[in-house]
Amino acid sequence: MSERPALTVARTVKDLRWQVFAWRAEGLRVGLVPTMGALHEGHLSLVRLALESADRVVVSLFVNPAQFAPTEDFASYPRGEDRDREMLAEAGCHLLYAPDATEIYPPGFSTTVTVGGVSAPLEGERRPQFFGGVATVVTKLFNQVAPDVAVFGEKDYQQLQVIRRLVRDLDLPVQIIGAPTRRAEDGLALSSRNAYLSADERVVAGKLNVIMAQMARSVAAGGAVITAEAMAADALRAAGFDSIDYIEVRHAEDLSTLGPGPIGDSPARVLAAVKIGKTRLIDNIAV
Ligand code: AMP
Repeated sequence: MSERPALTVARTVKDLRWQVFAWRAEGLRVGLVPTMGALHEGHLSLVRLALESADRVVVSLFVNPAQFAPTEDFASYPRGEDRDREMLAEAGCHLLYAPDATEIYPPGFSTTVTVGGVSAPLEGERRPQFFGGVATVVTKLFNQVAPDVAVFGEKDYQQLQVIRRLVRDLDLPVQIIGAPTRRAEDGLALSSRNAYLSADERVVAGKLNVIMAQMARSVAAGGAVITAEAMAADALRAAGFDSIDYIEVRHAEDLSTLGPGPIGDSPARVLAAVKIGKTRLIDNIAV
């Protein structure tokens, strides 16, 4: 007999709450892993981490239109719920919450949650709609699921810091856990968007993490930030990336700039966003 729990699917807040409140009545702890589907091993590692801190794990699957600009890939974003369901059942997830769009955005919806500070630089500058869309949908998911704990990937490092800020600022009663980035053999961070890469582009993509690691080592060894950033940008161009949105060293918590010289004792993170062809990749590593 299989050890796996049966995977329930809920499409409405009513069905979701019915199940979650039944678990709560039994005194069980509930974990949430928000996703946009097209699942891969990175997502499943979040489910496994959630299972370490919670008795029941809910994965939400919602491709959130509010966090895409009109020029971005909302329509073409990879989707495949049947496969996602199989993977989640295998990983030990208990409930898939795949809401109908009106459960998230009912007619007349007019509220946006805006997180200041850490939302502003990097992704915030390039994708002005993004963190407002994320903070709003995550706040809704927290209210709908009412989890004790929620797991987010360090893959989207700025997003993780934005959510930590949101939870602190609004006293949301949920513990946030950050999960390490899962990578392919050559170090490319797993991402649903990697499916867009051609075979040649995929080879180039694998160099991003190598260049970032080199940059982190140089800064950790006392090298000047400005030099490390310039060398990394040159290396990215030489490796065949078509454009660089940013490759920077930032303070690891609030993502503020650290100045052009050595970082001293500051906790720091290298963050990058680059494009190959039509595909935009983001990654980050600790210094
Ligand atoms: P997404 O479906 O891309 O919105 O991602 C859902 C969650 O999975 C987010 O918390 C991401 O940070 C996380 N995630 C995505 N890729 C990875 C990865 N390679 N390793 C760990 N977590 C990831």
